[in-house]
Parts: sequence; C-alpha cells; structure tokens
Amino acid sequence: MADDASQAIPKRMLPPLSTENRPFWTGGADGLLLIQQCTECALWVSPPAADCPDCGATLAARPVSGRAEVLTYTVNHQPFNPAVPVPYVIAIVKLDEQADLRIATNIVDCEPDSIHVGMKVHVRFERHELEDESVFVPVFAPRIEA
Ligand SMILES: [Zn+2]
Repeated sequence: MADDASQAIPKRMLPPLSTENRPFWTGGADGLLLIQQCTECALWVSPPAADCPDCGATLAARPVSGRAEVLTYTVNHQPFNPAVPVPYVIAIVKLDEQADLRIATNIVDCEPDSIHVGMKVHVRFERHELEDESVFVPVFAPRIEA
C-alpha cells in the first residue's frame, strides 16, 4: 500500500554528490570515466570509498579506458516512470582495468535481445541536471572492434 513505485523511481538513480563520488559523476564532462585508484598500491576502487580497502592509503580519481564487458544484466519491462521508455537494460559491467572492478549501469544503443554475458562494451555519458550542477551518467554501448 505504501509501495508507490510511480513516484519512488527517478529518471535515473542520481546520487547526492560527495567529495568521493563527484569525479565519477562529473568526469563525463571531459569524456572521462574517472575511477578512484589507490595512490600506494594502485588498486582500483568502486564504488567510491574514503580510502583504500586494501592498504588504507589515499585514493585519487583517475581516468580508465572506458572498456568493459557485461557481467550480468536484466531487461526491465516495467514502466516505472513514463520518462523512461521500456524495455531498458540494467547491468553490472566489469571494467577492463581490474578483474573485480565493477559498476552498475545501463546498456544502451542496442536491442536488449542482442545483449549477452561477456559482451564487449564501451562507456558513453548521459547528461542530466542535478539541482545546480550537471552530472554525466556513465552508460555502456556495444563496442565496435576496429
Ligand atoms: Zn592501496
């Protein structure tokens, strides 16, 4: 009864920006996918954290290649929000930089039926306005191999 999905789900799940996650959500302004990397042991860290979960050192936001592969995905046919056409694809992708470096995202620019686990994808950015600043949501599209 309290489950009012029509107002609970925004167009995108845009988070409040913090010092830690701001690079991730705004790097797209420069076409960069910025992920935190440990300044000591070089571990990539996602989701954003205060310091390195391995060695405790400081993290710095650094650009990654934007290349990834689909680890798991689900096709959503539920029109939670009229602003978002269905079906759309929610996925976990694994970035090429590190075996356990994963982000939750959407797969765009392809038919949901064509998506498969292991599919090579590349980042692109969707611009959204969040209160007084723009955020660039990283989404992934099929990668065309040269
Ligand atoms: Zn470290």
